[in-house]
Amino acid sequence: MRYAETGFDLEVDLSRGSIDRVETDPEMTKLHLGGLGTSARILWDRVPADAEPFSDENLLIFSTGLLCGTAAPGCNRTIVTTFSPQTRLMAYSMMGGFWAPELKHAGYDKVILRGRSPDLVYLWINNDKVEIRDASHLRGKGAIETAECLRQELKEPNAQVAAIGLAGENRVFYASIEQGRSSASRGGIGAVMGDKGLKAIVVRGTKDVNVARPAEFMDLCKGVLDYIKFREDHPIPGVPAILAVLGSPQEMKIVDEEWHTTSFMWGNARTRRRDFWTHEIEEKWRKTQEDVRTRLISCYNCPMKCGATISVPGQPTYMMKCYSKLTYTMAAYSDLEFGFKIAQRATEYGVDGFSTPQVMAFALELLEAGILTDADFPGMPADVEGRFFWLLDRIVRREGIGDLLADGTYWAAKRIGKGAEKFDHNTIKKQEQLPLKLGMLNPVYYLMYSTGEKINITQIEGQFPQAPFPTMEEREAFVKDWFQVPDDKFKQYLLDWEPRGENSNPLYPSVQASCDIVDWQEKMHYIDDALGTCAGLSSFPLKPPYHIHNFPGFVSAGTGIDFDEASLWKAATRNRTLLRAINVRRGMRRADDKPPEDHWKKRFPDLEKKLLNEYYKMKGFDGNGIPTKESLLDLELDCVAEDLEQRGIIGQANAAGQKTSAGEEPEGKEVLSHA
Ligand code: SF4
Repeated sequence: MRYAETGFDLEVDLSRGSIDRVETDPEMTKLHLGGLGTSARILWDRVPADAEPFSDENLLIFSTGLLCGTAAPGCNRTIVTTFSPQTRLMAYSMMGGFWAPELKHAGYDKVILRGRSPDLVYLWINNDKVEIRDASHLRGKGAIETAECLRQELKEPNAQVAAIGLAGENRVFYASIEQGRSSASRGGIGAVMGDKGLKAIVVRGTKDVNVARPAEFMDLCKGVLDYIKFREDHPIPGVPAILAVLGSPQEMKIVDEEWHTTSFMWGNARTRRRDFWTHEIEEKWRKTQEDVRTRLISCYNCPMKCGATISVPGQPTYMMKCYSKLTYTMAAYSDLEFGFKIAQRATEYGVDGFSTPQVMAFALELLEAGILTDADFPGMPADVEGRFFWLLDRIVRREGIGDLLADGTYWAAKRIGKGAEKFDHNTIKKQEQLPLKLGMLNPVYYLMYSTGEKINITQIEGQFPQAPFPTMEEREAFVKDWFQVPDDKFKQYLLDWEPRGENSNPLYPSVQASCDIVDWQEKMHYIDDALGTCAGLSSFPLKPPYHIHNFPGFVSAGTGIDFDEASLWKAATRNRTLLRAINVRRGMRRADDKPPEDHWKKRFPDLEKKLLNEYYKMKGFDGNGIPTKESLLDLELDCVAEDLEQRGIIGQANAAGQKTSAGEEPEGKEVLSHA
């Protein structure tokens, strides 16, 4: 008997039209937990290192987290993994909502898709009955429209649908998979779904999900709910509104956007509007938000309500998630009403709300610079809002200039040439990032942003505050009930962190302290992504209800496989190292671990080198960012060590012909060059 997980995956070959229900190996749960961890293992084992993202060999995996579908609050993430057409590295993206719990209740932990269907199809999973069905009538339809059509067609109003829109069908490199309350947007996962000829996966599940020790498990769940209630009544003082509460974040409840609108650059990351947020703007945006927001909503089994249904007059209702509320507005130098309107169309098309506004702002910047001309934009309206709608329509159809832009700023800049590359200044490993530019290097953020395998700014967020508290009284008050820390040394790191002077950024937190903080924050993300816990209740906010001290109890009582803090930490380390190995096998090296050049006004090359060296040493990577044989063996990743050794990657000589050891920087150049 398997607990928390079902012990079965669905294997679907879209080329052959075959569907198999396959029992999984419980040893994999012990090693990798589930979700991102077990999916990464499948990608490592089964996708050749040189497989093209758009190919039969590439897999697209929809996974539940290990605790999804149980009573654990907020455990509802669907983890989608594949190889990205944009970065050509492993892509993973998480959806909230209801899809993963529904799949668990249908009796499966994952849907593993391989091959490509010659015709557009959808997958219908109705408990034990699974079918591949014709979707030609859905071609060109929006993602939300598709979901509605399928629910009606199947007469299953409670079915959960994950679908792509036009962008996915046309393999736009930053196409998303939409799913009602949420989406998997980063890395062009929707483009891979489109390449496979799969329009949607519809799921209906009515079976039970069992846990090993129910009474113990329910006690832990109650503890989480009690703490959520406590935090609702006790927001953290002294931090911006958006950080003071729990959630992911609760953008749709909060109107105060001073922090985002004054800290982040607008347009293609060129202009900072420090004095933008005024009382008048706040009132105007409050009215806009309250006029269109019909209802606050939550994901499966979560009381937080951090999304909302949005009804803009004249447009179909849709659900707004997190920070996309602002991304279009800030890219177009416009107002919130425009943002709500264009986000509706973008959701139907199925595009990433982080990348898309950046790509459109980049195109207009090239036009202003004369690198592109009016001839490239025939018929484009004169007003900025009209231009954004016009560009969005061209991109998802891959029409004219939209065909170049559909590959994202990195690849578009390369093809356009004529100096366009210097406008591609906001990408990491070829993926557009949020327009955030800062004055002074923050060492913790530098490491998380540069080295994160998700290649996404959201992965920098964690349980350690992002800025020091100005006074000692505030710091002491913060650490007083900070029981989530894995070790008391983190309290001292915070107490000693000053806004100015020798204990301030970039020299403090020290190199060692920065690595410790990154290690903690990073591991929490890997635990969430394996268990399917919402980061908004765990790895993302300050003082969350899930932490390293209660997670082992959840996993043990849930699965019946006993984990303590050390073994859970080790499983998270194993998953983190495996993802690095997957990307290393595809060519990623130290020189690729860097933020956008102008991300900070003040950079410190020697310090950054030291930080990276120490981080690699702590992770068991060599100076080139490659996991060492010793660390792989210690993590029981023997097959990974063997493979990397056979390929000559482990112990690889650097450009100067010298081998490097843990943390030592080699002479090297960027090797992630897939142009
Ligand atoms: S915190 Fe928000 S995003 Fe996370 S599960 Fe709850 S409602 Fe969903």
